[in-house]
Amino acid sequence: MHPNRNHDSAQGYQLVLFRDDLRTADHPALLAASEAGPVVGLYIFDESSPGIRPLGAAARWWLHHALLSLQASLAELGIPLLLRRGTTAELLEEVIADGTVAAVHWNRRYGQAERAVDTRLKSSMRKAGITAHSYAGTLLHEPWELLTQSGTGYKVFTAFHKALCGTDIRPAQPAPTPQSAPQGQLPYSDELKSWKLLPTSPDWSTGLAEAWTPGEPAAHERLATVLDEIAQDYQDQHDRPDLDGTSALSPALRWGHLNAHQVWNGLSALASRTPEAANGALALRRQIAWRDFCWHLYYHHPGLPTENLRAEFDDFDWSWPEDSDQAAHLARAWQRGRTGFALVDAGMAQLWQTGWMHNRVRMVAASLLVKNLGLHWRVGEQWFWDTLVDADLASNTGNWQWVAGSGADAAPYFRVFNPELQAKKFDPSGSYVACYAPLAVEPVVDLKESRQAALDAYQQMKSAQSQ
Ligand code: FAD
Repeated sequence: MHPNRNHDSAQGYQLVLFRDDLRTADHPALLAASEAGPVVGLYIFDESSPGIRPLGAAARWWLHHALLSLQASLAELGIPLLLRRGTTAELLEEVIADGTVAAVHWNRRYGQAERAVDTRLKSSMRKAGITAHSYAGTLLHEPWELLTQSGTGYKVFTAFHKALCGTDIRPAQPAPTPQSAPQGQLPYSDELKSWKLLPTSPDWSTGLAEAWTPGEPAAHERLATVLDEIAQDYQDQHDRPDLDGTSALSPALRWGHLNAHQVWNGLSALASRTPEAANGALALRRQIAWRDFCWHLYYHHPGLPTENLRAEFDDFDWSWPEDSDQAAHLARAWQRGRTGFALVDAGMAQLWQTGWMHNRVRMVAASLLVKNLGLHWRVGEQWFWDTLVDADLASNTGNWQWVAGSGADAAPYFRVFNPELQAKKFDPSGSYVACYAPLAVEPVVDLKESRQAALDAYQQMKSAQSQ
C-alpha cells in the first residue's frame, strides 16, 4: 500500500470517470461508487492519448450539450461533475495528487487505444495506492465472454445473434439515490465553453438543434415513444425513410444516455406482454444486437477502422480523392449531395442538416460511393465520422466494410444497390426526397456502366489472386 494514501472511503471521495456513458441510470460504475461514499464525476476530453481518434464536428456539438445535461442530472443527485481537457493519464495524476480520492471507478471501453489508456491507468492508480474498479456497462456482454465454440469472436451476425438470444441479459439498474455532496475543496474544473466544441463561424448547428435534444432525459422520453408507438410497426416500417419508423435512438446509444440493457429489456418486456407488438419489438431488438456485434468485431479485430477485414480487398483498385481531379470531383459531389441520384442526395442533405441519416439511405449512399463512384470506403467513412451525431467507431467502420464487401459477414460484392429502384421501393410517394429537396443535377455516373466497372474490378482482383 502507498504510505501517503488514505484508503478510508469515509475520508475521501469516489471518483467516477465518465466517457461514452453520459447517464445516471444503469451506470454500474456510478452505482458502485455511490454505495462506497461521496462521489465526484470527472469527464476528460482526451484527444491527445496515443491512437485516440478525434471526434467529428457533429459529435463535438452533441458532446457539449450532453455534458451540460449530465451536469444537471448529477447535480440533482448531489454529485459534481469536473471537466478537464488533455491527456487522461496526466490529468488523473493531477486530480488524485491532493490525496482526497479514495478510489476510481469507470465502465470499460473496447477500442484498442482506449483500452491501452485504461490499462495504463489501472497500473498507475495501483502504484499511487488507489484502487481502480472497472465495470461492464456498455455492451450486453463483454466481447471475451460471448465466443464461438472454437473460442474466437463471432464473424457472422446471425450466429452471434442466436448465441446472444440464448444468454441471460441482466436487468437494468436504477440511478443512485441523492446523496450529500463531498466535503472540502474540489480539484480545478474547466469551463465547458473554453473547449469550443460548438461551431461558430459559421454556426451550422441550427438543424441539429431542431432535430435533437442531447442527454439522458430526452433519450428516456424517446425510448418511451419507441415502446408505445414505434416498435410494434418496426418490422413493416423500418426501411421507409419517409416515415418515423425507426427508433432514432442511435445517438442516445452512442453517447450512453441509454445503454443496450435498458433498450433490450424494454423491448423484451413489450414482446412478452403485447403479442401483437412482439414481431416488431423483436425485430428492433435484433438491431441492438448489431451494435454489440460491431463492437465485438472491433474488439477482436482492432484494425477494423482502417484495414480491410478481408485482406484480399487490399488489392482492390479503389480511388482516393487525391488520386485525380475526377475522383476529387466525385467525392465532393457525394459529400454535397450533388450526385444526381435523388435518394442519395436527399440522404446527404439530411445528414448535413440533422447529423443523422436513415439506415436504408446510409446503405444506398455508401454503396453508390464505393461501387459506382469507385472510391475507397474510408473516404465515405471519414465523412460520416465528421457529420453523424451517432458516429461510432465500431458501427461506422463495421457497416462501411459490410457495404464495401471487405468486412466480416459482408454483403456479397455483386449486390450493388440501384438508387433509383431503391427510391421507388422505399420512398414511394417521394416525400422523403421532397423533404430534403436536393438540387436536380445530371447524374455524375452512368449506373449501368459504373456497376459493370465495379464488377469487372472485383473479377480482376479475384483473378490476380488466383494466379
Ligand atoms: P434502429 O433501426 O431503430 O435500430 C436501433 C439501434 O440498433 C440503433 O440505434 C443502433 O444503435 C443499432 N443498430 C441498428 N442498425 C445497426 C447496424 N447496422 N449496425 C450497428 N448498429 C445498428 N450506426 C451507428 O450507431 N453509428 C454509426 O456511425 C453508423 N454508421 C453507419 C454507416 C453505414 C455506412 C451504415 C450502412 C450504417 C451505419 N450505422 C451506424 C448503422 C445504422 O444505420 C444506424 O444505427 C441507424 O440508422 C440508426 O437509426 P435508428 O436508431 O433509428 O436505428
